[in-house]
Amino acid sequence: MPEGLIVKALSGYYYVKPATAQDGAADAYIQCRGRGIFKKKGITPLVGDRVVYSPTENGEGTVDEILPRETELIRPPIANAKLAVLLFSLREPDLNLQLLDKFLVHIEHAGLQALICLTKEDLLEEDGAEETPEIIRQVKAMYESIGYEVIVTSSVTGMGTEEVKSRLAGEISVFSGQSGVGKSSLLNAMLGLSLETSEISLKLGRGRHTTRHVELIELENGGYVADTPGFSQLDFLELGIEELSSCFREFADYAEGCKFRGCSHLHEPGCKVREAADNGEIAASRYEHYVQFYEEMKDKKRRY
Ligand code: GDP
Ligand code: ZN
Repeated sequence: MPEGLIVKALSGYYYVKPATAQDGAADAYIQCRGRGIFKKKGITPLVGDRVVYSPTENGEGTVDEILPRETELIRPPIANAKLAVLLFSLREPDLNLQLLDKFLVHIEHAGLQALICLTKEDLLEEDGAEETPEIIRQVKAMYESIGYEVIVTSSVTGMGTEEVKSRLAGEISVFSGQSGVGKSSLLNAMLGLSLETSEISLKLGRGRHTTRHVELIELENGGYVADTPGFSQLDFLELGIEELSSCFREFADYAEGCKFRGCSHLHEPGCKVREAADNGEIAASRYEHYVQFYEEMKDKKRRY
């Protein structure tokens, strides 16, 4: 039985790209229904699922089996995404590091890799100033030292576009970021289309907020991108307050040395994480955001 990838789910149909189809061959997609048994068992095929399907006479097909998932996101509902591309504009809107750290918490929790894109670099150039603006150097250094990839982009000058694109090759990625940070523009640049932002917005299903419609956009290098319009926050599996500190990956080495097991890294004596934040080994803003999220979670009855 043939295998394929669900690239789109719409109105009860799953659009399956056969494993044998060439990259970019959208006309090869097969419109499938899910097997009846899925409903009975409460199984929902997701965009991103690798599936076994059987063709039916009318050129359509049936999804028979869902192959094991590597990752699963609740909202957007996507299976097997490996990489979350977090877009944050340097200007318009201004860089929001608290929101960036919040995204990173959820991404760590979901087990995805993160790629941070600092967008609209050209707007900083307009400020005049040095070759590499201080803000970029600082933010890049901070996140790279923790082990996150950071790419600076501009859809106006093309800066970083190729680099992002090659990073997406062969993987399923999720694009996330507040509205207006330049998600469509960067996708547009990567797709090499001369479409207006508004046109690609249409292609991406924007402005049709009533239909819950998820689609993978195929790049010619075998990468797939799920754009998640209108998300100011990603909604992943619930996170317990005791899991929060493990989502700040640079805390781990220090946390081992904390005097108390289960240290919250807030007020306990002998806390190595707080010590590292005090002496600058852990970035002040990262620790600050940890404390803020912790307090927020406490207020929300220990669930995030
Ligand atoms: P989205 O809501 O995240 O998809 O953002 P869009 O791609 O629709 O872009 C929002 C606005 O920012 C539009 O007016 C774009 O023209 C503008 N924009 C996007 N990327 C850039 C960029 O790299 N530089 C500049 N100067 N403007 C950009
Ligand atoms: Zn501690």
